[in-house]
Amino acid sequence: MGGAQNPFLIAQQQIRNAVVALGESEELYELLKAPAHFVEVQIPVRMDDGGVRVFTGYRSQHLTTLGPAKGGIRFHPAVTADEVKALSMWMTFKTSVVGLPYGGGKGGVVVDPRKLSQGELERLARGYVREIWPFIGPDRDIPAPDVNTNAQIMGWMLDEYEKIVGRSCPGVITGKPIALGGSLGRNEATGRGVVITIREAMEYLGLRLEGARVAIQGFGNAGQFTGLLLEELGAVVVAASDSRGGILCPGGVRVADLIAHKQATGSVVGFPGSRATDQYGVLTADCEILVPAALENQIDAEVARGIRARVVAEAANGPTTPDGDHVLAQRGIFVIPDILANAGGVTVSYFEWVQNLNQFYWTEEEVNARLEQKMVESFRQVVATAERHGAYTRTAAYMYSIQRIAEGLRVRGLLQAPARQLRVAAGQ
Ligand code: NAD
Repeated sequence: MGGAQNPFLIAQQQIRNAVVALGESEELYELLKAPAHFVEVQIPVRMDDGGVRVFTGYRSQHLTTLGPAKGGIRFHPAVTADEVKALSMWMTFKTSVVGLPYGGGKGGVVVDPRKLSQGELERLARGYVREIWPFIGPDRDIPAPDVNTNAQIMGWMLDEYEKIVGRSCPGVITGKPIALGGSLGRNEATGRGVVITIREAMEYLGLRLEGARVAIQGFGNAGQFTGLLLEELGAVVVAASDSRGGILCPGGVRVADLIAHKQATGSVVGFPGSRATDQYGVLTADCEILVPAALENQIDAEVARGIRARVVAEAANGPTTPDGDHVLAQRGIFVIPDILANAGGVTVSYFEWVQNLNQFYWTEEEVNARLEQKMVESFRQVVATAERHGAYTRTAAYMYSIQRIAEGLRVRGLLQAPARQLRVAAGQ
């Protein structure tokens, strides 16, 4: 499995492929190839031992053509500037693929939060907001949770922001606790969206979801809800992993039991009745549906050659390398690309923001019904684009998304009609 590939360069290559496939102009690629704004901040935090540690943080706003920037904040020791830039670019295409009035944003802090106490974590979250608050706002850039951040951290961040600006402003951040204006259904929204696209994909391919076997790499928020909701539809989880390792359970697990085991022990490893394996073993498990739900660069060419699933639903952002993608496409494995598969989270974040701006809150049924409608419509548009252009699903998702963005750029007067066309660079 990779890790060495630069996600920023991968994102640029994906954009380039889609711009070429659309016959769009070089100017469009130039407008999309890097974030419009990017800030790096240093965050001093008073630690429990009385000393001060300084953490590095980032916030990237890729494009705000269709609306304010939108995207999560990641706390992870491996966060880099290029990773945050790439993630913000993927957010632009994700929000556009599901038709939200946003551009892409993303933030990150270089930290291993498991090594912080609750008090240190809170001071870090508040410190991050003290550094980036001039760049965010409900009509400018709206953060949300991502890897290792959650509703409680969003609650601290909102509180800090409101103290600084001196007014109530729930729309500045989404994924908040319900008590602070969070939306019902937000917590499971990413998993629910992944499952809706899997259900549509299985139907499109003429495959049965009932009894289908599922492998999940990364048993966190996105992975767990995907497992729970797939189980409700009759599928069976037969493999799962987290950062500590993986398990195989060919007879299937009860997802609630696996969640309870992870809560009790900190990992899926050691689940009763399971066999231990590594990440490769989970990614190449004997199953119909593979859900990468951990980090980037997990499916390279070697892993892609070993995958036995018929459908790969990318709950994680950027789990497949370009080489891996090439192999998946050649092998005819149906990929539901990240910008479509995991768009449920940002879609319900959008619903949360709409509710905050209107000060009027919806029922969970209303949230889920609207999510269902958005995901199904987007899935069908991407598949129709793939069929129309004979394109791979990832390229089709980018094509559909970039068409909307290009239209926005044109009516703003920032982009001419297609003229000078990009050439496909050697090897792409
Ligand atoms: P999370 O922190 O809740 O869970 C991540 C899980 O991945 C954890 O179980 C962790 O142990 C595991 N993990 C970490 N490194 C791993 C590795 N090398 N191999 C296997 N497992 C590993 O995070 P999450 O919110 O579920 O996010 C997971 C992915 O989904 C990320 O790529 C994120 O960007 C994407 N995503 C999340 C949301 C959301 O709303 N939560 C929305 C869109 C996309």
